[in-house]
Amino acid sequence: MNIGLEIYSPVHQITNKLFDEQGLSVFIKRDDLIHPLISGNKWRKLKYILKRASAENKKHLVTFGGAYSNHLLATAAAAAKFGFKSTGIVRGEQITNDTLFLCNLHGMKLIFVDRESYRHKEELFDKYFGIDADAFFVDEGGASFEGAKGCAELVDELTESYDHIFCACGTGTTAAGIINGLQTHQLTTQFNAIPVFKNGEFMRDEINQYLLRPTNYNLYTDYHFGGYAKINDKLTGFIKTFVTDTGILIEPVYTGKMLYAIYDLAAKSHFKSGSKILAIHTGGLIGLLGMKDKFQL
Ligand SMILES: *Cc1c(COP(=O)(O)O)cnc(C)c1O
Repeated sequence: MNIGLEIYSPVHQITNKLFDEQGLSVFIKRDDLIHPLISGNKWRKLKYILKRASAENKKHLVTFGGAYSNHLLATAAAAAKFGFKSTGIVRGEQITNDTLFLCNLHGMKLIFVDRESYRHKEELFDKYFGIDADAFFVDEGGASFEGAKGCAELVDELTESYDHIFCACGTGTTAAGIINGLQTHQLTTQFNAIPVFKNGEFMRDEINQYLLRPTNYNLYTDYHFGGYAKINDKLTGFIKTFVTDTGILIEPVYTGKMLYAIYDLAAKSHFKSGSKILAIHTGGLIGLLGMKDKFQL
């Protein structure tokens, strides 16, 4: 099986009064359009992981995630598409939701484990699949050098240069890949990482472990809205306005926070007039369905 997807990820401009007033050209790279479920950075991260699994003759992907994990779903869908079996080891109590339903529909077996056991992923892998020669360990969120390598290819696709690139960070793999890609192309674009966790300073170590060489980039740690998957009315209000004004769907866990940061920084005249800014739409839209009760529309 040839492991590959044709990448459809156009760049669209976002125009509005704020950006006009500030003299900014703002664009968004639509990685969300790559695939409905193997969406955005998740395909980029899985690409070389799956190629390695295939080269090692492994037939069973075993990976990890929370019950709303976009990575679990992407792995389930990619496994089905490219002829692998898949197992998802899920953190926490057994529940059902839209994400897990779709994982299941794609043939992923789900094993729920308590939070303490979940921390020891290698042990869990050994416990359940130590004797399964077909099983292949895929880390939570696809975090790996292979993952970063796939994400670097995003930069190969850019046909224009930008002063700034913004991306939301969970494991930091995508950010590291893009930074590596910018370096490879000798671009001076300023990279801006938006961790979606509280106390996101630790993201610097996570990103740096995958960098090909030490590089400067910005880390904005004040756009977490209280922590991972935490949201408030300001954020949901922003998302509603953004989606209504642009027709581009975003979600509150990652892309909503990253775009909020760009709008907030623009409103504070943070960018030089004339700047060209690129936001990365990393996809993950199924997660939005799990949060609809938190929107008061
Ligand atoms: C998983 C995910 C991220 C985080 O990517 P990392 O490489 O783990 O930093 C960002 N955005 C969306 C929509 C995601 O699903």
